[in-house]
Amino acid sequence: MDGVPTPLRCFDEQHTAEMFEDDGVETVTSVEQKKVEEAIEAAINVYKQMHSFPQPTLLREQHYQYLKKGLRNLSDAYECLDASRPWLCFWILHSLELLEESIPSAITSEVCQFLALCQTPTGGFAGGPGQHAHLAPTYAAVNALCIIGTEEAYNVINREKLLDFLWSLKQPNGSFVMHIGGEVDVRSAYCAASVASLTNIMTPALFEDTTNWILSCQNWEGGLSGVPGLEAHGGYTFCGTAALVILGKEHMLDLKALLRWVISRQMRFEGGFQGRCNKLVDGCYSFWQAGLLPLLHRALFNDGESELSRQRWMFDQLALQEYILLCCQNPTGGLLDKPGKSRDFYHTCYCLSGLSIAQHFGNVEHYHEVILGTEENRLAPTHPVYNICPDKVAKAVQHFRQLSVPDASRQAGPPADAEPSEPASAAAGPQS
Ligand SMILES: [Zn+2]
Repeated sequence: MDGVPTPLRCFDEQHTAEMFEDDGVETVTSVEQKKVEEAIEAAINVYKQMHSFPQPTLLREQHYQYLKKGLRNLSDAYECLDASRPWLCFWILHSLELLEESIPSAITSEVCQFLALCQTPTGGFAGGPGQHAHLAPTYAAVNALCIIGTEEAYNVINREKLLDFLWSLKQPNGSFVMHIGGEVDVRSAYCAASVASLTNIMTPALFEDTTNWILSCQNWEGGLSGVPGLEAHGGYTFCGTAALVILGKEHMLDLKALLRWVISRQMRFEGGFQGRCNKLVDGCYSFWQAGLLPLLHRALFNDGESELSRQRWMFDQLALQEYILLCCQNPTGGLLDKPGKSRDFYHTCYCLSGLSIAQHFGNVEHYHEVILGTEENRLAPTHPVYNICPDKVAKAVQHFRQLSVPDASRQAGPPADAEPSEPASAAAGPQS
């Protein structure tokens, strides 16, 4: 940093010219869009009145206190999310690692013991002790344990049973159900590929036909839907693309159509991302959408696309940071969807994850930071496939690589890869 603050978009007189114009045709959507823009303008005006020398600040200490309290009160603060408690562990632990805050070992040990209670005899993890196993909390629990990254944490995962659980969800067409008797959507393919690759239980047979099923979710818009034939959506598009990266098949997507879709989801006035066409900006899509750019950049680069920038992702990284820092921070800690909404751990995790993506441009040969505000705003880089810090991905892969793949005998095809699709190589950040 050279000490000269980056000029903010919101101080530019042209900025209000980017506001939505309904061309005289008022609809429910256009009214909602205008309301959001007015709320954002109000938030920006408050900021302008308070700061003649603009340097948006990440409220580190406040976020840290909010997260620390959440980690200690996992039991009572979120009774309404009683079926998502491994998620709370992941959202809070990942937010803390992005802030580079260490967690006392007594607390991480408590989290390990709690997550062990969530692992069911079927091998999957449930949303809480005594509940049924489900792929979403299984993903969250494995990610949380890999962030903790101790022997105790790794030993919570019963890999043989986890593999049995994944097999029990596999469908003949290559898709996975989220839980026994549950629904199929592209999240499940990602959750399965993520946990299998991190813990070295991947086999070609387990993911047979999964690539084709995910590819069938890419629609005419260019993004992916939850199941074939529906509307493209940021969360599903991230899950499908990241799963294909793990399977080494992302080049089979229509990458240019996907690129066009995702960059069109960054909002002109707000700077943040929407989840779907004609929807409102939402802080959590800072990760689900912007997180696609590192994956796409790498895939296009591998495809021989030589026109790619070597300095930036293909979206406005500063505009996204401006949205998160000016519009998504609760002054007393925690981050949120948009002005007027309340904070929660989900949005805290995904706003910070998106902020990290927007700050760090990285691949093996090039690394470049784009940080809005002072150096104090800098977060740790996140791995765009797993959304945990790259060093924790590498450490988990190294740990589980020493262990054999549990069911090499079960599959009919060639022996399982000893290398779990090189998950660490897809990292954004200096460690990659
Ligand atoms: Zn959201």
